[in-house]
Amino acid sequence: MRLLINPSVSAPSLVDSSLVFRPEEKHKELEEFRDYNKSDKLGEMVRKTYLDMHTNQTVEFVKAKHEKWLKFDHLEAGVMEALEMLNELVDESDPDTSLPNILHAFQTAERIREEHPNEDWLQLVGLIHDLGKIMAFYSEPQWAVVGDTFVVGCKPQPSVVYSQSSFHDNPDVKDPAYNTDLGIYQPGCGLSNVLLSWGHDEYLYQVLKNHPGCSIPQEGLNCIRFHSFYPWHTGEDYKFLEDQSDKEMLPWILNFNKFDLYTKSSKVPDIEALRPYYQALVDKYIPGKIMF
Ligand code: FE
Ligand code: FE
Repeated sequence: MRLLINPSVSAPSLVDSSLVFRPEEKHKELEEFRDYNKSDKLGEMVRKTYLDMHTNQTVEFVKAKHEKWLKFDHLEAGVMEALEMLNELVDESDPDTSLPNILHAFQTAERIREEHPNEDWLQLVGLIHDLGKIMAFYSEPQWAVVGDTFVVGCKPQPSVVYSQSSFHDNPDVKDPAYNTDLGIYQPGCGLSNVLLSWGHDEYLYQVLKNHPGCSIPQEGLNCIRFHSFYPWHTGEDYKFLEDQSDKEMLPWILNFNKFDLYTKSSKVPDIEALRPYYQALVDKYIPGKIMF
């Protein structure tokens, strides 16, 4: 691993509010995994995260984050090195278990492997899907790293969590260019052409797109890019922005997300035993050092 810019935080703490709170009941059997009401302190933390997110994530803010992070000049690391770094993250969101982040990565991958033994690239996607959280080591606030994402540049849709009570101080909602349903977009323009609120999904997607040797199929890259976009994939909002390819990718993302959510109570994987298997997948699909 080579640090190009030194991290400014040694053990950042994050509450992955996407995992704590889910707005819809689509994954009914998973409900308890995102029941944010079960802890008041945690609930307050999540509410504050979304208030900050919905106040500060604007078109201008997102463009500035693209400018900052899509230069890929923060660090150079192999996948396993980046996973080890992520492991220093403290996940405050989990009052039941305090599993390190690397376990969430291996659990997600292993659950995918059980159901999709032949789709090794999807298993790898499970392993790496949260690597974008390394932004937290560079003082990126919680609300610009984790949490459900939404579209900036148009009106926040009803299934965005706290949409009724958290956007009042966001300057974009007062801007007539941005505060209609379509805002700056055309109907059916495609989700790959809209600006989502900044977070770990889009960042890792772009990191992988930028990596010359990355051969993960587009379906897998889309799972990474949109896994936190609950208002679309679970809330069924923003349909007017979809194009044909978005409709086709939706089942992949819903399928992927059940492994991501479900893993918190799964058995603890033996990481050392599994490492060679996953290292081979890394070498096959994302060889070499990656620029973050
Ligand atoms: Fe995530
Ligand atoms: Fe995850």
